[in-house]
Amino acid sequence: MVNWTVLSRRISGPWPARKTKLNLKSKRAILLGVIVSLSLLFNLAPVYAEGGLRITNSSAQVQFPLTISFSVTAESGVDITDIRLHYKVLRHSFADVTAEIYLQFVSAPEVEASWDWDMRRTGGLPPGASIQYWWTVKDASGDQVETGPFTLPFDDERFSWQRLTQGLVTMYWYSGEQAFAEELMLTIEDALDWLEADTGAILLEPIEIYLYANSQDLRGSMIFPQEWTGGVAFTMYGRIAIGISPDNLEWGKGALAHELTHLVVHQMTLNPYGGLPTWLEEGLATRSEGSLAYYYVNALNQAIYNGSLISVQSISSPFSAYADLAVLSYAESYSVVDYLVTTYGKDKMLELLETFRAGASYDGALMEVYGFDTNGLDQLWREYLSESVGTITVGVASDGLSRRTIGLSSRT
Ligand SMILES: [Zn+2]
Repeated sequence: MVNWTVLSRRISGPWPARKTKLNLKSKRAILLGVIVSLSLLFNLAPVYAEGGLRITNSSAQVQFPLTISFSVTAESGVDITDIRLHYKVLRHSFADVTAEIYLQFVSAPEVEASWDWDMRRTGGLPPGASIQYWWTVKDASGDQVETGPFTLPFDDERFSWQRLTQGLVTMYWYSGEQAFAEELMLTIEDALDWLEADTGAILLEPIEIYLYANSQDLRGSMIFPQEWTGGVAFTMYGRIAIGISPDNLEWGKGALAHELTHLVVHQMTLNPYGGLPTWLEEGLATRSEGSLAYYYVNALNQAIYNGSLISVQSISSPFSAYADLAVLSYAESYSVVDYLVTTYGKDKMLELLETFRAGASYDGALMEVYGFDTNGLDQLWREYLSESVGTITVGVASDGLSRRTIGLSSRT
């Protein structure tokens, strides 16, 4: 899961009462602006204030994924003294954050001002994100005008995207045959069915998946991508961006199911108070991949053998950056969730997610649903592991078992 920072400069004091008057002409211009937004450029009919202050032009140009350049021109009978750009990114969130930018310009009766949103400073946005923005301009006589809002799509225009929709899932892709996209859509449906059967968690809101032809194209859509980035879930935006080519299809299906689970769990538990322990998020997502990869199994078996398991308390926090510890953390998360689902059942897991949605703490949610806290879970899970040594490889599908089969067999 990746958290994206939005540049936020809040208003320091209230604006004076608005004198803005939008005449019919400007309303029409705004509507037109929304439609024209696909071309990423707006031309405004002038927006007037009573004293002659008007915004004569506004534009926004996306250079995906790095910058958005906003610019505006305005004129008045007196000096223009204040130009502000307001914008917000549309996403699933309880905090409605509007950024406000004070533009630098020399006061004059006719002015042109611009500002570049440099994503390298603020963190990037996923492909297909929507930005809403508007301008406010003031002059020396105290008049003020306001435009918009306009909606600007932040599209990855390097490629010609095709679209496939099934239920709440829309997939965009540009490379390969329709059959390739359809096969991955089937993977998504299968993963959603399995997740519902296993945990009761279901998709509640539409999601979008951007299917890049390979990880190199994917990395080209990101700000400061890591070498190893193959897929990203933008949970707040209900989006996944992933690079899958025919020669890494099996990896791709597992990774898609993993990231998809992050979106479902996010939707199921969204609340303004707090999140989930990392072991629960990653455990559910890793279970959705189907088989537990051999390196996870090895790491887990070795830690059991050496007595070097990381505590459930520790994997409640973000995982270590050290590869060995991260691998063990994922493996343990899988195992802890597996323990909970196989021992206490699907209904309890659904109840746990719903308890988190209500804003419970980590310990509070566990206590309410299972009657033990994180330390209690740690103890019970270790006992479960010591009893089930030798069967820990149940989830490994080297024999080609399907995810569904593994899910059922691991419940026995
Ligand atoms: Zn994950």
